[in-house]
Amino acid sequence: MRFDELGLAPEILRAIADQGYTEPTPIQQKAIPLVMAGKDIMGGAQTGTGKTAAFTLPLLQRLLPLASPSPSPARHPVRALILAPTRELAIQVHENLQSYAKYTAFRTLCVYGGVDIKPQIEAIRKGVEFLVATPGRLLDLVEQKCLNFQSVQALVLDEADRMLDMGFIPDVTRIINLLPKETRQSLLFSATFSNEIKKLADTMLKSPELVEV
Ligand code: AMP
Repeated sequence: MRFDELGLAPEILRAIADQGYTEPTPIQQKAIPLVMAGKDIMGGAQTGTGKTAAFTLPLLQRLLPLASPSPSPARHPVRALILAPTRELAIQVHENLQSYAKYTAFRTLCVYGGVDIKPQIEAIRKGVEFLVATPGRLLDLVEQKCLNFQSVQALVLDEADRMLDMGFIPDVTRIINLLPKETRQSLLFSATFSNEIKKLADTMLKSPELVEV
């Protein structure tokens, strides 16, 4: 299978070509059509399988009609929220996202703890559509009242098993409860599916498709 058989827009295909990818990985072949169709997903995949592109590419595609070069931050609320357990993973996901989104008008941002919150608040105020975050810092930013989640259309929980190991599930649950329910598409990725992860999936996902590699 080739990337240009997946129905992705030319600006996304061009970014993929710049990366030098020749064909979608197995998780990408399975997940991209499902995510583009608006399905919720429970994805079983380790790092290194290409799972980041498996969720970022179809979300960019799905939300593409909302990208416009307008400078008004009010017209650019957060549309996609990607939660990662650690700063390192958040940065890595964001770097991937940036490279895939480079020919779109979307603005992306990565926020994590352990650094000054003020520049993050300023960046959010300027407008961001794709936000990658660690859970604790995201809740700090919510308390600063600079985030509005009313327009969030997609939620990704990356490495849910590590979130669990690190004790982040209460924070993640609080975040989920702040997001729109009916209109939201949700994707959960985890290397393992313990009962606790399944419980979390039950609260977060609607009729999910199971995607495993
Ligand atoms: P991930 O599993 O998302 O951490 O991705 C692992 C690595 O594979 C990253 O460095 C990606 O840039 C790379 N990658 C993702 N998709 C593809 C692809 N279709 N072909 C070649 N490399 C890829």
